[in-house]
Amino acid sequence: MLGTPLPAVTTWQGRARPLLTGPLATLGVVPEGHTIHRLAARHAELFVGDKVLAASPQGRFADGAARISGTVLEATEAYGKHLLHHYAGEFALHVHLGLYGKVTDGDGEPPEPVGQIRLRLTSDRHWLDLRGPTACELLSPPEVAALRARLGPDPLRADADPERAYARISRSVMPLAALLLDQTVVAGTGLIFVTEALFRAGLSPRLPGRELTPAGWQVLWADLVELMTLAVTTGRIDTVRAAHLPEAMGRPARVDRHGGEVYVYRRPGQPCHVCRTPISRGTITARNLYWCPTCQS
Ligand SMILES: [Zn+2]
Repeated sequence: MLGTPLPAVTTWQGRARPLLTGPLATLGVVPEGHTIHRLAARHAELFVGDKVLAASPQGRFADGAARISGTVLEATEAYGKHLLHHYAGEFALHVHLGLYGKVTDGDGEPPEPVGQIRLRLTSDRHWLDLRGPTACELLSPPEVAALRARLGPDPLRADADPERAYARISRSVMPLAALLLDQTVVAGTGLIFVTEALFRAGLSPRLPGRELTPAGWQVLWADLVELMTLAVTTGRIDTVRAAHLPEAMGRPARVDRHGGEVYVYRRPGQPCHVCRTPISRGTITARNLYWCPTCQS
């Protein structure tokens, strides 16, 4: 794949109706891939085709901001949990939010800088502030190619090749959950999508990768594509089938700052929506893991 040009998945040109509506201003959760795809679409909507001014009020990205400033943002792209801005002049801004990164944006004049703003972008019409990212750097085209090459296929990208992930999974003795959380195997999946997709597939998170059949992988991949695509649209992660929704079961809706109806994620000790067995919690590669010991045996 190295060196193969990939189409930008989200470009926004012209002055058509906004692609996204609703609150995107603040991200309060550990972002999974759908959040980054939403940001890429949002930033394309706000800035693509415009000359932007860039600054680093905090100072830590002053050189990079100086290089961006005055150039045109040509396209944006999400690859897994990585956000790329492609600027005229053949360089890209690479952002990884990590646990603490936040992006805010708005129309018109930006507010007085508050807190540690790593990067502020402004155009005639919009502004954007980036705070606390794990990565905020400029990449050359070969560096962008290297980034893509080290990531697994992203279920949200049209150019994703799921067989590349299965080649890794099917020869590994590692637990399936650990493999799916490894961004070099599948890009963009975090703990919520992984634990929920495994539940929906009836697969134990501890199943060794090499015991997953090709048919099992097809189902799992298709489900990740479906769940993550829905999340891009809605901005939250919902994984519960119609029969298990609160209204269908006569149960209270989930109360959690992460929002969304889920089967197992952060539901330890609570009854499984399908079989009533209490949901289990364990750890794998230092991450919490949730599963139903009956449905996923
Ligand atoms: Zn169950």
